[in-house]
Amino acid sequence: MSWEGNNQKTIASPIEYAGLALHSGKEVHIRCLPAEADQGVVFRRTDLVGKPEIKAEPASVVSTKRCTCIGLPETGVEVYTIEHIMSALWSLGIGNIIIEIDNVETPVGDGSALPFVKLLQTAGVKVLNSPRKVWKVKQAIWVKERDMSMVILPFEGFKISYTLDYEHPVIGTQFLEFDQDDNSYFNEIAPARTFGFEREREVLHRRGLALGGSADNAVLIGDQRTINPLRFPDEFVRHKILDVIGDMALNGFIAGHIIAIRSGHYLHVELAKKIKEQIDARGELVYDVY
Ligand SMILES: [Zn+2]
Repeated sequence: MSWEGNNQKTIASPIEYAGLALHSGKEVHIRCLPAEADQGVVFRRTDLVGKPEIKAEPASVVSTKRCTCIGLPETGVEVYTIEHIMSALWSLGIGNIIIEIDNVETPVGDGSALPFVKLLQTAGVKVLNSPRKVWKVKQAIWVKERDMSMVILPFEGFKISYTLDYEHPVIGTQFLEFDQDDNSYFNEIAPARTFGFEREREVLHRRGLALGGSADNAVLIGDQRTINPLRFPDEFVRHKILDVIGDMALNGFIAGHIIAIRSGHYLHVELAKKIKEQIDARGELVYDVY
């Protein structure tokens, strides 16, 4: 993977992108700008007075309903659906960037991380003159909610073992292991699209959700088959791994082995918050463990 070198990274030049937002169905513009070392991933709402900024970190998360949403508490300033961009940034080792956005939600692209990976690759990666920080989990951390659970174990690298189990003939049980060391993100994970049920579409539309959702930006699941063709037989579990990576990127770069069962954004963020607590308490900072 393109994480060569031990230094922090940003993008080499500004780049723009426009596309539909999944929930509002509106066209959204983003502009990515290079940032300094240790600035982190910062979203800037250019459509609001004062252009308020929200840093992508566990404490900024204000909602995990159907996506990961960050915001400034008590101001109503929010950015929805950051997880696919976050996943793409992680894959390129980019930990510092300013993402200007003129709406409340990021563009959905094709429902995967691929458009963002390509966009960032077009901008190019710039190596900053400051060592990269990788937070190494030193003790196992668990989170659990109903039949969903997640654990991160100490591991010299970054690995995810994901079990998806959905009582639906099209999904069923899928298991996949992703190891950062295998350089498989770009071909095996980034193209995996988000998914939704055809039956739920109408209900969501009535609630003003998924208005931009279509077979162009999600796998639509019918009663017995998918409405549009899959990119991989196990595309669903691949997308779940894409989401876990995006949510874990709220802490920048971490080392550990994550075992997840049926988890969604809520549990991912709960885990990210507990990892942050451990980072703050122990300060287990290492460089270049990957
Ligand atoms: Zn997703």
